[in-house]
Amino acid sequence: MKVVINRANSYMTYNATRIFYKSNVDIFGIRLTIPNKPGTLRKVLDTISKRGINIGFIHGEEKDHYGEVFLVGYQHDREMLPELLRDLNSIVTKYEVIDSTKRGLVIDDRTIPVTYMNKRLVAASIDLWHGLIRGVKEYLPESAYQAYLWHIGKSMGMAAVKLHKNLRSSQPPEVIVDHLRFGISMGWFISAEMEHYHNNEKIIIRVYGLWECKGISTGAANSHLYRGFLAGLLSGLYNKEYIAIEERCLSRGDDCCEFLLSSRAK
Ligand SMILES: [Zn+2]
Repeated sequence: MKVVINRANSYMTYNATRIFYKSNVDIFGIRLTIPNKPGTLRKVLDTISKRGINIGFIHGEEKDHYGEVFLVGYQHDREMLPELLRDLNSIVTKYEVIDSTKRGLVIDDRTIPVTYMNKRLVAASIDLWHGLIRGVKEYLPESAYQAYLWHIGKSMGMAAVKLHKNLRSSQPPEVIVDHLRFGISMGWFISAEMEHYHNNEKIIIRVYGLWECKGISTGAANSHLYRGFLAGLLSGLYNKEYIAIEERCLSRGDDCCEFLLSSRAK
């Protein structure tokens, strides 16, 4: 059986909700706490539009009886801010103005940006992850480097089993699909496919644009961290050891990274 998960827009990206960057444009942020009642957000937006203020970015979130709205505006509208805040006074419970730290960069550092199952996600730029791998590679001999990354990945995969199982009481193949969807939404890869055979003794997972291998040209299979992750995920799900072999890889010119997972004979 084959499951294909395709991202609708092949490369539409958006900023982390609390970090907004617009190159060479002066911007500022406002965080508003408003009562979570129908129509309040509409009133806020109407008030802003009456002042002729152009919103560059808006993000809203519900929290118990309140909602939080994070807006980014353009600097030339800034002089209208005192009047705007006065207008909003009867609608919003609290507001906070967040100035840019550098031209075009507004960081709301008072809240955790992304959570999954109410757990904090520790996100880092792909440059930091590549830096980590490069550092380990320089420091350790090849086989030790591969094993080291594989073990880190495997431990993460086993930890992910618990997290995904909490999501719903689903069967292992569905948990793998959940993981692949999660991986796409987190930017690990762009799209994914899974095939499973022989009562899940053999599973093929193909991921396109895997961060670990994208832009790295080694001429050989390059994924050790994600390969370990998959081995850990499946070993934990099926309660038996799985090995993962990367049979195709972006780093050697293939169009995807393809992992063959098979349960190890006892
Ligand atoms: Zn690869």
